[in-house]
Amino acid sequence: MTELAFHLERVSFAYNSGGVTFAALNSVDLKIRHGEFVAVTGPSGSGKSTLLNILGLLARPSAGALSVFGKIIVNLSEDELADTRNRDIGFIFQNFSLVSRLTVLENILLPSAFSAVSAAESEPVSGLLAERAEELLRRFGIHQLKDRLPNELSGGQKQRVAICRAVLLRPRILLADEPTGALDSASALQVMQMLEELHQEGSTVIIITHDPDVAGRAHRVVSIFDGCIKEDHRKMPEAARYDALPKTNTSSAKPAANDSAAALLHMLRQSIKLAKRSLAAHRIRSFLTGLGLFIGILSLIVIDGLGEIVENSFNKLFYTSSVRKAYIYYDADRAGFHGRQRASWRGLHAGTEFPRLAQMFSGKGKIRPFLRSGTCQIKSNSGSLRSRLAGVSDPDEFLEMDTPLTSGRWVTGSEFAAGSPVAVLGSDTVNQLFRANDERRRNPDFPVGERLTVDNCNTLVALTIIGVLDKRDTSFGNREANDIIYVPNNTLLARMGPTFYTWFSVLPDEGVDSRKLASEITSFLSLQSGGKLTFGSSIPADILQRVRGFLWIIQAIVGFIGALCLFVGGVGIMNMMLVTVAERTREIGLLKSLGARPFHIRSYVLTESVLLCFWAGCAAIAAGLAVNNLFSLGVSLFVPMLKDFRWITAPAGLTLGLLVSVGCGLGFGALPAGRAARLDPAECLRSE
Ligand code: ADP
Ligand code: MG
Repeated sequence: MTELAFHLERVSFAYNSGGVTFAALNSVDLKIRHGEFVAVTGPSGSGKSTLLNILGLLARPSAGALSVFGKIIVNLSEDELADTRNRDIGFIFQNFSLVSRLTVLENILLPSAFSAVSAAESEPVSGLLAERAEELLRRFGIHQLKDRLPNELSGGQKQRVAICRAVLLRPRILLADEPTGALDSASALQVMQMLEELHQEGSTVIIITHDPDVAGRAHRVVSIFDGCIKEDHRKMPEAARYDALPKTNTSSAKPAANDSAAALLHMLRQSIKLAKRSLAAHRIRSFLTGLGLFIGILSLIVIDGLGEIVENSFNKLFYTSSVRKAYIYYDADRAGFHGRQRASWRGLHAGTEFPRLAQMFSGKGKIRPFLRSGTCQIKSNSGSLRSRLAGVSDPDEFLEMDTPLTSGRWVTGSEFAAGSPVAVLGSDTVNQLFRANDERRRNPDFPVGERLTVDNCNTLVALTIIGVLDKRDTSFGNREANDIIYVPNNTLLARMGPTFYTWFSVLPDEGVDSRKLASEITSFLSLQSGGKLTFGSSIPADILQRVRGFLWIIQAIVGFIGALCLFVGGVGIMNMMLVTVAERTREIGLLKSLGARPFHIRSYVLTESVLLCFWAGCAAIAAGLAVNNLFSLGVSLFVPMLKDFRWITAPAGLTLGLLVSVGCGLGFGALPAGRAARLDPAECLRSE
């Protein structure tokens, strides 16, 4: 006796729609031996497709027992059902059900994606399965079509492709639901001949048909009426016919499935191929859907880039001495509130009191007098200007300006000590002292060596220009920096200056806080006056702190908007994937009939959403790098103190952007993917 391919005992199936149950199969008893060629006939709506779905394990019986090759189906899990469909059952549908985005060859190889055993064999170039696919194409006369897309094929050609796909993995059973229903008679004949050939080779073939010619070629005709078997007619003695058949394809002939990593990789490659093509097939939709996520991720990257720019800038700005400096002054205005009369302060004596103060705080910072002459008339031999002279205490104070000379040299130590009549010009004074068309300007050293006279309260001072400063940054106070003329303190004191200092600059040592040191000094000075005098301080760095806080607020706002965009973009992706799944219900049914497990369907949908998000992420990274570096370029062009351009890579933002994009793909794709994975295969195949 031959094996039983199917054994149905009192199998019933009821559809449940809108609370109404409809019994499509009623207590069907049926035995089909392996190697039989059975036609199932009956009027429309009699339950033929329902029976085929049950035989093909696409639907579980509502009642009764079904076993396939002796295996009791009730006990099998979803995955085991899928694997059995993959290995043992080939489906052929009336409407061909080819995947329109895949070529003929790729369609035929589709079942291999869900089969652990076939991963290695289905390598497109060298694999055994690829070879088998080509062999099938050749055998059925459609080899020349292998790289075509389904919509370039005629109905008969499509059905031949579908049959090749059904037999790729040498299933023992072929189930065909009206395979010739949509074909002209010539094509129908070809299809029937193919099925007969496959039957000759040992397959069990079950065909649903309305066509008496088709039914006439089968060896057994089962007719169904109202969900019951009305007639079961065998045309030839069963034992004699089927025992003689060669049994080539039994499951023991299949290699053991153990290379699950390779299978996973193969499936992933398939998923990526499908996802790429379906995204490409809906370019505009994919583009628009990805846009939200793109903007979200872009803002993440820009925030990080902005942070890097701010950090770079502040590191540069904060650690320039001119920003770290604090300025201490006598606060006459506030003093006025303390008494009837404003207290006046003559200052600290330059030779005695001041050095004591400087000495006292020498462990924490450097205190220098902040000396300015009154406004005076300064003349060269070809022009003049009204400006002030600024006292410089020592060579270091020049260096702390962080500004190079455009010509000439700095004041030397001995000139400082001696109070030599030498001057370094602020960059803007040159144009006022010397005409633009002055012949002498051709000389690169000009105006070094030229002489100036300074008229201050009837004291005439003659100075020699020894250097010219480059333009200084005036962003943080110190507005006159480019309009004044720098001379050694002693020069100023000896010729026109006071012998008392009332303003001081304080440069805190590394690691000392400017504000703290300034308040220590002001309280010391106030204490020394017996509390009668009040001193104030101004610290350029305070402005920077405020600017930094402001930038943080901007970062937070951009971050918040970015997060919103991410969320909205993600919801958009979820929405699109739901639509995609709905559009592809039939295709999902097909994949399940080919043996896709729920896991495969899940990965197939997730791959698409991850791929879309990943592309959006990559685009955002490219755009983010561009935006960040344009920002950086802008800063270097428009902020004089930060004129060295720095490449902004913001690696954290880039990595985060990529992770977030993949995460969004997984997160927002999960719902549609889960929904697709749970779809009922029989229902899917019925949907249009
Ligand atoms: P056939 O293939 O013989 O034309 P089917 O097996 O497709 O018949 O359907 C059998 C019966 O079940 C039909 O009367 C049909 O209306 C009913 N039916 C099929 N699918 C559903 C469904 N999803 N919900 C309710 N009834 C259904
Ligand atoms: Mg039908």
